[in-house]
Amino acid sequence: MNSVNKADVIVVGAGPAGISAALAVARGGKKVLLIERAQYAGSKNMYGGAVYTTALKEVFKDDFKTIPYERIINSHTWAFLTDTGSFEMTYKNDDSTASYAIKRFNLEKWMIERAKEAGVYYIPNTLVTNLLLKDGCVIGVKTELEEYFASVTILADGVNSLLSRQINLRSNYEPKDIILSVKEAIKLDKKVIEERFNLKEDCTNGVNKQYFGTGFGKMKDIKNLFMMTFLHTFKDTVMLGVGANLADLTKNKLNLNEILDEVKKHPDIYPLIKDGETIEYSAHLIPEGGYNKMPKLVSSGVIIVGDAAGFVNSVHLEGTNFALISGKLAGESALNALENDDFSERSLLIYRKKLEKSFILKDLYSYRNVINKLYSRSNSLSVYYPKKIRELFEIVTSANCIPKGEQIRSYVKSFFKDRKITELFKDFFAFLKCGLDVFFGK
Ligand SMILES: Cc1cc2nc3c(=O)[nH]c(=O)nc-3n(C[C@H](O)[C@H](O)[C@H](O)COP(=O)(O)OP(=O)(O)OC[C@H]3O[C@@H](n4cnc5c(N)ncnc54)[C@H](O)[C@@H]3O)c2cc1C
Repeated sequence: MNSVNKADVIVVGAGPAGISAALAVARGGKKVLLIERAQYAGSKNMYGGAVYTTALKEVFKDDFKTIPYERIINSHTWAFLTDTGSFEMTYKNDDSTASYAIKRFNLEKWMIERAKEAGVYYIPNTLVTNLLLKDGCVIGVKTELEEYFASVTILADGVNSLLSRQINLRSNYEPKDIILSVKEAIKLDKKVIEERFNLKEDCTNGVNKQYFGTGFGKMKDIKNLFMMTFLHTFKDTVMLGVGANLADLTKNKLNLNEILDEVKKHPDIYPLIKDGETIEYSAHLIPEGGYNKMPKLVSSGVIIVGDAAGFVNSVHLEGTNFALISGKLAGESALNALENDDFSERSLLIYRKKLEKSFILKDLYSYRNVINKLYSRSNSLSVYYPKKIRELFEIVTSANCIPKGEQIRSYVKSFFKDRKITELFKDFFAFLKCGLDVFFGK
């Protein structure tokens, strides 16, 4: 074994979680190898495009100032799409710098440079095929050509995490615990984007839109499909994507590419992307099992982080912040194990304690039933309430020579005529339970 193949810590996967973990170890003065299967980190990754700056600042400290962002995202819209239009709510704060639009490839490239500066040995273009075990303890990894050895291996290999499944640290997710997402990068002239979204030339503002509702196009008659559409503005591109539960897609025999095509034709979305050129098309999975499907997190000689551990809060489109902070905490836990020269499962469980103290396990716990509850009411959220809201706005915004009181009375009656009262109660209690779970937290 030569010295290049031996390190204190090996990190598999150079996404936000892996880079952050490697950086923490290098900053602690220990030797760390960061192995990535892609030729260029970021080229195999995909996301919507909004990265939360608090976690980036915590991991990259002063270097954060040089991050290659394209726009500051400080306008957030939540909208319900109906067959003819939409109902939307926007929160704007030009002073906010809470999230940035950064292209994934640029983000990873920048993060890798910072990690290398801190002393991380970066090995790209190398697929880790197996974990190496001795007496039940992970002692390193095998790639297609070499074996690498370390006291601690951190698995940051993303949502599929084949490696953690090899040692039964994590099971495979069921379709109901996975979102499939497809996204297009649509190129438009920078000036056109600024005009369409009312943005400044200096890129100090940007837009994030989340759309719910499926009652339009080919999805109109589908009862149980919980789907979300997202749109982010970049300098000269608009990122438009859709995500839907894999089980819903299979059950309804739906093709997500066709759904995205339908979304692009929607009267509210088409004007925003009109005449744009699709320059990139990508697909990715998002783990959604949350706290209830969380893996064991550690075993002797090994720790799991980021998407590989299912650390995502899809209600708020948060993933990179969970990845960055869980990576940092895993790196610090590895340093702790090295200091004590103890790489047993018991020693590495300090990682879980750190996660419990952070927002990660607190949030995952308080949201543990939210997604399932929302899915169970998906028809209400995606079709019924958007339709009822549209009907209410039609009454409020039109002058049709019918007394308003009469219209509103018939509207209220329609709530009980169109839908069984038991269903309305189920909706109410499901939303109330979600709210109470989050409010009381852990
Ligand atoms: C459509 C979509 C939209 C999203 N939008 C947002 C958003 O707006 N904001 C947000 O915060 N989050 C968002 N997320 C979530 C976010 O992208 C992820 O949570 C985050 O990237 C997870 O980081 P990670 O490092 O754990 O995993 P990844 O980013 O998936 O990185 C895993 C890395 O491991 C490498 N790898 C895998 N297997 C091996 C192997 N065997 N050997 C070597 N290398 C390997 C991969 O090539 C990859 O580089 C979104 C996700 C999707 C899919």
